[in-house]
Amino acid sequence: MSSKSLSFRFTALFAGIFIAGSLLLAVTTYAFLANSFHRDDYEEIHSRLLEFWAIYETGKIELIRKDLTLERLVMEDRLYMLRIAGRRNNTLYLYVPAHWSEYNPSLLETIPVIREEEFIQLPSANDRSILEISSLKLPDGNILQIGISTKRRQEVLRRFRRTFMYVFLPLAVLALLGGFLFSSRSLKPVRHLIEFTRGIIDTGRMNVRVPSRESGDELDELVGLFNRMLAKIDSLITGMRQSLDNVAHDLRTPMTHLRAKAELALQGRGKISAYQEALASCMEESERLLHMLSNLMDISEAETGVMKLDRNTIDLSSLIADMVELYGYSAEDKGITIARDSGESIPIFADLNRIRQVVANLLDNAIKYTPVGGVLTVSAGLQGKEAVVTIRDTGPGIPPQDLPHIWDRLYRGDQSRSQPGLGLGLGLVRAIVQAHGGQVGVESKPGHGASFVVRLPL
Ligand code: ADP
Repeated sequence: MSSKSLSFRFTALFAGIFIAGSLLLAVTTYAFLANSFHRDDYEEIHSRLLEFWAIYETGKIELIRKDLTLERLVMEDRLYMLRIAGRRNNTLYLYVPAHWSEYNPSLLETIPVIREEEFIQLPSANDRSILEISSLKLPDGNILQIGISTKRRQEVLRRFRRTFMYVFLPLAVLALLGGFLFSSRSLKPVRHLIEFTRGIIDTGRMNVRVPSRESGDELDELVGLFNRMLAKIDSLITGMRQSLDNVAHDLRTPMTHLRAKAELALQGRGKISAYQEALASCMEESERLLHMLSNLMDISEAETGVMKLDRNTIDLSSLIADMVELYGYSAEDKGITIARDSGESIPIFADLNRIRQVVANLLDNAIKYTPVGGVLTVSAGLQGKEAVVTIRDTGPGIPPQDLPHIWDRLYRGDQSRSQPGLGLGLGLVRAIVQAHGGQVGVESKPGHGASFVVRLPL
């Protein structure tokens, strides 16, 4: 487990929080215990002072002496020092439990002024315990002093510390172990995903999918998204491969024609007119190729968002009028009538030449696929914040199975093979309209013509 891995960081975090929490709890408990022991001792000293003050009032030192002997027999566990000092702090009476020889009460006589509110602290000669002494003035001017050793409470606190250490070390190990188990368990799906991705990179197989655990958690969602991404990449790659195949296929035919024509002309040896004819035909063929390539590049540019649009405010109505006039001749040749809504001006902010291309391609298709005697209806109008152009024909319509594909590059309907075309017209129409932020759609029932609708934002 490297120090950068998520497992390591999770384990450290888990154990860290657990250990810090236990430490905080222990320190708080320790402080609370120490504080309450301290307060207990002070209260004990205080009540003892008052008690002996009352005894002293009635029976002087003798009674106290007796009381202490009794007390010692009864309360062996709570020992204390008692001193009665004269006005000049000379010891009149001193009682110290027998085994408290480590404290030196004679030091008390060296203190010049005894103040009631101050605690006097006598250190032990053997350990770190202290004899804490409080004083009270007696009615006759003498001083009563009671002292309690901190030995007992220090011993309890020491035991607390030791017990905590005994419990804390196994707890810390447990926290580390728990953190490790928790992190390796929860990161298992991630590791699985990593191995899977590595497999895909190594083998290049995009059609495999990561099995879902169906747990419904975030990692499961990630797996779902990952699979969707794979599917999308897979379909894109397949699409690109198909496009490439189609382009290669569509380029091969005109290229073969070109070559055959040039070869034939060269074999003919002689007639200038034959050469001229061959060259003209080669030019025609290469023109077709260039047209196809430039359409393909236009579609790519528009789809990837790098198509440069030379936008200006143009009138869509007059653009359509021009195009209808232009295509009117070829429609007339085929005996097709074009009906146009003579609409009022529709100003749009668009690239004039590109929008001309859109209308031209749609009109060209409509004339191409509509049989003799058919009618085209071209209308343009405003709908909300959009300009809408509709081109309707009375041709054969588009079979439902072709509908989802007609916008794809190089796609040609089966019924359209008899007509000239590269299968790039509608692809370019859609790419240009989308580059303008608009939409294009088609409605068609076989046998009832097709109706193409272009929507462009104003
Ligand atoms: P092309 O016309 O060169 O084949 P397009 O991209 O312009 O390519 O059109 C794609 C396909 O959509 C055509 O092959 C044809 O099957 C169908 N199509 C387009 N316009 C029409 C229409 N007006 N009527 C019927 N089918 C159409």
